Amino acid sequence: MRYKSADQYYRGRFGRKIYRVSLDIGTTCPNRDGTRGEGGCIFCSAGGSGEFALSYEDIDSAISRVSGKAGEGAGYLAYFQSYTGTYCDVSYLKQCIDKVMAHPMILGVIIATRPDSIPDDTLDLLASYNREFPVFVELGLQTASDVTAERINRCYRTEEFVAAVSRLHRHNIHVTAHVIIGLPGEVVEDMLDTVRLVVDAGCEGIKFTALYVLRGTVLAQMYERGEFDVLGMEEYFDIIDRALDLIPGSMTVFRLTGDGPKNLMIAPLWTNNKRQVINYINRRFG
Ligand code: SF4
Repeated sequence: MRYKSADQYYRGRFGRKIYRVSLDIGTTCPNRDGTRGEGGCIFCSAGGSGEFALSYEDIDSAISRVSGKAGEGAGYLAYFQSYTGTYCDVSYLKQCIDKVMAHPMILGVIIATRPDSIPDDTLDLLASYNREFPVFVELGLQTASDVTAERINRCYRTEEFVAAVSRLHRHNIHVTAHVIIGLPGEVVEDMLDTVRLVVDAGCEGIKFTALYVLRGTVLAQMYERGEFDVLGMEEYFDIIDRALDLIPGSMTVFRLTGDGPKNLMIAPLWTNNKRQVINYINRRFG
């Protein structure tokens, strides 16, 4: 295999296959409520990128949704996926983590968040939990370019990402960067620069996704006005191929691409055909 996959990483760390249990803890996002910005990132759907998540209160149902395919001996990580998973009072975050960790099948937590939403008390909480069980933080970087960041209304500067990674690393917290390939106005070299920044920041993991155009987003309006085009499947994986050359063997590639909510997907439609995409990945990178 050309890269260290999530499965390889998890088997090395937990000695078994691991499934993520997507959960929503009811937070919103500082880029939606006016604290950092309004309207959110232009690609972000009304569900805050957590369309597949169930409430953390309903952890049993969330586990049953994945346990059917998991089989005997699998382990589970609670994944706070929706919106900004640390954008709440620290005592509430503690309550949510305690609730999911009380479940005997949950081995650790993954929290998707923004680099500007990890105040010191939250970091201290995560650091103390990280001494008891694995805590993973996923930061939505999308791009290293502040120009593109402005275009997509990310509403934080890339230097805030770099600073957040180093604060998390001071507490040995595993950090994965979420990166979008194909953002409007970017050329391939910009996308590779994003990967270089993630590597230079020392992130332990990276997650790629092709830019999706989802119904109801500002991006959808731009797409309908013909302001940019989405990547074809081959074109997308040609860029991923070059990105993989930049990634050290110690870094885990948690995802080569994702699949968005089908009911909202406008383009690129190849991402809806999960089986075809997986077969393609296995042939080309397996
Ligand atoms: S920071 Fe995340 S949740 Fe907030 S608008 Fe952007 S993508 Fe959506």
